[in-house]
Amino acid sequence: MDIKKNIDSIRNDFPILSTSVNGNKLVYLDNAATSQTPNCVIDSISDYYKNLNSNIHRGVHFLSQKATEIYEETRFKFKKHLNANSTKEIIFTSGTTHSINLVANGFNNSLKAGDEIIVSSLEHHSNIVPWQMLCEKTGATMKVIPMNQEGELNLNAYEDMLSKKTKIVFVNHVSNALGTVNPIKFIIDRAHSFSAKVLIDGAQAIPHFKVDVNDLNADFYVFSAHKFCGPTGVGILYAKQSILEDFPPYQGGGEMIDEVTFEKTTYADLPNKFEPGTPNIAGVIASGIALDYINGIGLDNIKKYEDELLSYATQKLKTINNLKIYGTSQNKTSVISFNIGDIHAYDIGSIIDNLGIAVRTGHHCAQPIMDYYNIPGTIRVSFCFYNNFDEIDKLVNALNRAVKMLS
Ligand SMILES: *Cc1c(COP(=O)(O)O)cnc(C)c1O
Repeated sequence: MDIKKNIDSIRNDFPILSTSVNGNKLVYLDNAATSQTPNCVIDSISDYYKNLNSNIHRGVHFLSQKATEIYEETRFKFKKHLNANSTKEIIFTSGTTHSINLVANGFNNSLKAGDEIIVSSLEHHSNIVPWQMLCEKTGATMKVIPMNQEGELNLNAYEDMLSKKTKIVFVNHVSNALGTVNPIKFIIDRAHSFSAKVLIDGAQAIPHFKVDVNDLNADFYVFSAHKFCGPTGVGILYAKQSILEDFPPYQGGGEMIDEVTFEKTTYADLPNKFEPGTPNIAGVIASGIALDYINGIGLDNIKKYEDELLSYATQKLKTINNLKIYGTSQNKTSVISFNIGDIHAYDIGSIIDNLGIAVRTGHHCAQPIMDYYNIPGTIRVSFCFYNNFDEIDKLVNALNRAVKMLS
């Protein structure tokens, strides 16, 4: 699909885009925090509660069987999309954060003092804190891959850090604060040569381009539905089957067991071992609809269109005096982080909010990056395929107005 030609009909799929804020039409440029949901996803949730609501995997009755079938078909959709080997490798969680905690917990018993974990300096807090907790529990230590002014990882430093002590490496595919696309295939390959496992946080990659976990050879790949037009509260964890089989369960409860007596419980097979209790059934099914929706537009088309938006917006923003962009890698996607002179990001964000423009200001859950640049935060604009060029012009006009008011 040619997005440029069909942009009006695509925008019509998203009812929230016609919202007014203070008499101005909403310009939504905070897609890296959460994306908006199209009608088909919203309808899927209401359809579930109108026609299917029941508990899965348990009942012999019609509704339960039907809901189970669609839930498991959704697992297959993600398996296929990621090119995983089996549906046993797809675990539904409540989000990226939950998935990372589940993986970190899996290393509780195997990690020991003297072992090392390598993390990148571009991480989201949700990809730092669970590993710090794991280090505290096990006595392992954490090393950090440094970054450069462009917002790229220093790969020589990374190679120097790797050793037989390295057990886990975790890096995001795309930085949510700067938009840098990290060379994860190289990172994974080098880690594997030391038998370390690699977790990739793909929360900002899945909405913007095609990802093939088999080709990447990632051990774990995690992301959230609400970043690719799905509902909140659903995460997808891909992990290699052999690793999940060795992992201890994360939470105990119903649905994840095989047999329970008061002496001993044996656990269910994959993937149920990691999905205790009643999951977010409506949300999972709607996430599958969101995946169908973006595949219907085509991720190659999305990438091409968003690259054009990114380059147009970058050129336009550079016409503003004293505007400094953070994150200037050649390999970037859909995010621009910047400051204007020494004006506080929050002040600009509040003024343009009055004009209907939604951006993020602050540290974007990535404080170490802000510390590196020695700034408290940035203004971040982040795009989705439903944004248009007119919205970028509105952003730039609003920023010019804000600067005039504040200086
Ligand atoms: C949004 C985001 C997360 C956290 O996702 P949740 O859905 O809040 O758990 C983690 N990492 C990155 C890169 C993100 O963009």
